[in-house]
Amino acid sequence: MNISQKINEIVACIPDHVKLVAVSKTKPNEDILEAYKGGYRIFGENKPQELTLKYNDLPKDIEWHMIGHLQTNKVKYIAPFVKLIHAVDSIKLLKEINKQAEKNNRVIDCLLQFHIATEQSKFGLSLSEAEELLMSDNFKELQNVRIVGVMGMASYSPDENQVRNEFRNLNDIFKFLRAKYFNTDDTFKEISMGMSGDYRLAIEEGSTIVRVGSSIFGGR
Ligand SMILES: *Cc1c(COP(=O)(O)O)cnc(C)c1O
Repeated sequence: MNISQKINEIVACIPDHVKLVAVSKTKPNEDILEAYKGGYRIFGENKPQELTLKYNDLPKDIEWHMIGHLQTNKVKYIAPFVKLIHAVDSIKLLKEINKQAEKNNRVIDCLLQFHIATEQSKFGLSLSEAEELLMSDNFKELQNVRIVGVMGMASYSPDENQVRNEFRNLNDIFKFLRAKYFNTDDTFKEISMGMSGDYRLAIEEGSTIVRVGSSIFGGR
């Protein structure tokens, strides 16, 4: 199967309300163009430099998602065009995104990243850290960012129950935050969870955005 066929196959088997971000990190522009020519427009990258180069070289109607950890000093490169920043994990980063969004006369959509895996290496907030962020005066002043949901990565584990529980935990966090901080806000509706190995489970547990790389583009 070629890249477009793989995308079509995944799109066909996921529900309509779930968005597929085709994760093209480390892959050449030709691969992305192949998917583009097949009609696909939603791609994700995890490094700001690579994302910016690809944005410059490729058709401008691509919807680009920044899915990886983002350093404050790199926000300026992607602020002019990025569609959604998936991994916001501090008020400092959010303030910088707000500043760069303002410079570009934009409001940038963001997700709060939560630490749901048992592995130490994964980034993300705890629920109490997120609440602190959402209640801070600093946050309330930000006019050029919009928090539209949550994101997380499950443990890299063959234990399906564990992975399922981690996704369920993120869904619980989402519902808790929606009820407490976003109850008048219809735009807080996204749960970005699920990758090549676990997106089916993630969808069963309420994912609205899956980020799939190797199942589409091959191994890295
Ligand atoms: C690389 C990456 C993915 C995609 O991983 P695959 O296993 O190749 O599908 C999803 N999310 C994030 C944050 C990533 O860095």
